[in-house]
Amino acid sequence: MARLRKGNRDLIKEINRNLVLNLIKSRGPLSRTDIARLSGLSLATVSGITNDFIASGLVHEIGAGESTGGRRPVLLRLNYQAGYVVGAKLMEHAIASAVTDLDAKVLYHRVIPLTTAGMDLADILQAVIQAIQRTIVESGVASQRVLGIGVGMAGVIDGAAGICRYSPFFGWRDAKIAEPIAAHFRVPVYLENDVNALTIAEQWFGHGHGVDHFVVVTVGRGIGAGIVANGQFYRGALGGAGEFGHITLVEDGPPCNCGKRGCLEALASDPAVVRQARAAMALGERTRLAGVEPLTLEAIVEAAEAGDALARRLLADSGRWLGVGIASLVNILNPKLVILSGEGVRAGEWRFGPMRDALQAHTFDGLADELETVIEPSGDETWARGAACVVLGELFKSPVHKGEAADLMMAVA
Ligand SMILES: [Zn+2]
Repeated sequence: MARLRKGNRDLIKEINRNLVLNLIKSRGPLSRTDIARLSGLSLATVSGITNDFIASGLVHEIGAGESTGGRRPVLLRLNYQAGYVVGAKLMEHAIASAVTDLDAKVLYHRVIPLTTAGMDLADILQAVIQAIQRTIVESGVASQRVLGIGVGMAGVIDGAAGICRYSPFFGWRDAKIAEPIAAHFRVPVYLENDVNALTIAEQWFGHGHGVDHFVVVTVGRGIGAGIVANGQFYRGALGGAGEFGHITLVEDGPPCNCGKRGCLEALASDPAVVRQARAAMALGERTRLAGVEPLTLEAIVEAAEAGDALARRLLADSGRWLGVGIASLVNILNPKLVILSGEGVRAGEWRFGPMRDALQAHTFDGLADELETVIEPSGDETWARGAACVVLGELFKSPVHKGEAADLMMAVA
């Protein structure tokens, strides 16, 4: 092997540190000998790395493990309280934020209402900063122990630049989000599309952990998807991959928020179901929903449970459209697992029973055989935790996946 440039040596060191950290995280508690065996690194290298981790507080030594004859080895475990991260989800009418430990366990969360009328970008960023500040203070975690902040929001997000390329809710184009927040808190700030953040949370800490091919589909106010293929999170050329709610299912169908027509979201999202209920009542259909205000998805689910035919039919229709859409995702990506999340999950089997039938009916033969679907209830806290997991994902992600693969290839050439 050619002599390595210093930059390459640093990268290899970084890769080894990451390998050891992830082994302790996923397989720990482990002895130094176990880590050397599992990683293929020398015991001296492993000891050097783990001593650094112990000195920084990231790893703890805990009691002795099973002896295989000689002295019982000391076991190492990740110290999940070595630092904390904050996640915030910026929504149209509220900011949800949460403080988590390094195991993505939520220690504290809160939702602060947001009135955006008359507010410009700078005002809204100020509100986000205040919400994060308040959450940190109320969590009781010392601000100097916060390692990073993740911010999630709907729209097309350029995560690397920390810029929101397009937000349908706020009407922003190329809005700088991460930089002003980072300047205030003086820690790294990661901006991510909200559904992508939830997907990263599933990848590192949820059902997707260890699964190389899965998609997260969120249903609620909108419909979105996050994609993991070959173990890698898939962003697309502009960071806009997964705008699943805007695939066209009915040409010239009902108008969609995006300005187009007949999108899945315009047919099957929670607001679409509410709109369809109002339209049916306007045509004189008899239903328990008559006079119910505000007419919400909860009210429709309640009516379905009480035997209302219209409510049941509309939830089933929405599930069927969803199943048709997801079948296309499955036909293109062949995932092993589909995780359904978002506020719309509360419609339960009224929506997901028909969804499964449609998914089965429209998936290419063979691709549905081993396909697993998981329904993951979620609320504002889940979205905020997702944003926090973007920071944790960066912490545990291999440097090779941080865009330095080319350097590595030079190093080993
Ligand atoms: Zn659309």
